Amino acid sequence: MVEALDNLIQPLYTMPLESAALWVLAENTLIFIAALVIGHFAVKIFKAHAITDLPPPPITAIEIILAISCVLFNSLITWVGVVLWRVGIIQLRPADSIIGVFVDCVVLFLAMDFAMYVFHRVAHHPLLYPIIHDTHHRFDNPRPLTLFVLNPFETLGFGALWLVVISVYHATFVGMIVYLTLNVAFGLIGHLGVEPFPRRWLELPVIRYISTSTFHAEHHQDRHHNYGFYTVIWDRLFGTLSPDYIDEFQSAAHRNVIRP
Ligand SMILES: [Zn+2]
Ligand SMILES: [Zn+2]
Repeated sequence: MVEALDNLIQPLYTMPLESAALWVLAENTLIFIAALVIGHFAVKIFKAHAITDLPPPPITAIEIILAISCVLFNSLITWVGVVLWRVGIIQLRPADSIIGVFVDCVVLFLAMDFAMYVFHRVAHHPLLYPIIHDTHHRFDNPRPLTLFVLNPFETLGFGALWLVVISVYHATFVGMIVYLTLNVAFGLIGHLGVEPFPRRWLELPVIRYISTSTFHAEHHQDRHHNYGFYTVIWDRLFGTLSPDYIDEFQSAAHRNVIRP
């Protein structure tokens, strides 16, 4: 099974680069559509646990244009990744054991969580904020589409971080796929605008360090806290976790009111 997944990527190594570009565009488009469909149903299922009092305003044309540009730039990053793999800068380890794949997932998850925390804090520097990050923050009441509503510089910045990490750490292809799936899942959870996690989430050992929808929704409302993405570890460590996090999580998780 793991080897079959390993073989799945092999054609990208030899096919013309123009064909590879079309494949990665199709892949990124599918991820985009799947995320929006899953997000739509998640918002419906957990609608009683809204994080904000009012629902997000109607979708605007600029959000759609930015989201489509995000898919195009993500495809460009994926294509550059294929090129770096073909020239030997990115190397893939053969998936010879489940433990190896598990280690990859943990390493990529924590390394990217830390790198993105740092990048996000840098993006909030007054000199860089208007250039790369202000666009995402214009939408302070997130919905699933907001995950993709990014300034192209920001999309390229996050993509470059990923390419650097996998150039340095030689992961298995399967480990990368599992990590990338988690990446989309966490991005989506952070932009649902409703809290899907159970009330006791913040009382569970280890689990409570995993970020929630409330955690990132709070960042959209308060730019001085909650810069992390998958975990709250770095915000706790560097003193940037919102002091209202527990209260706001409990309020969303215990809420049982449908927004207008
Ligand atoms: Zn966001
Ligand atoms: Zn931010």
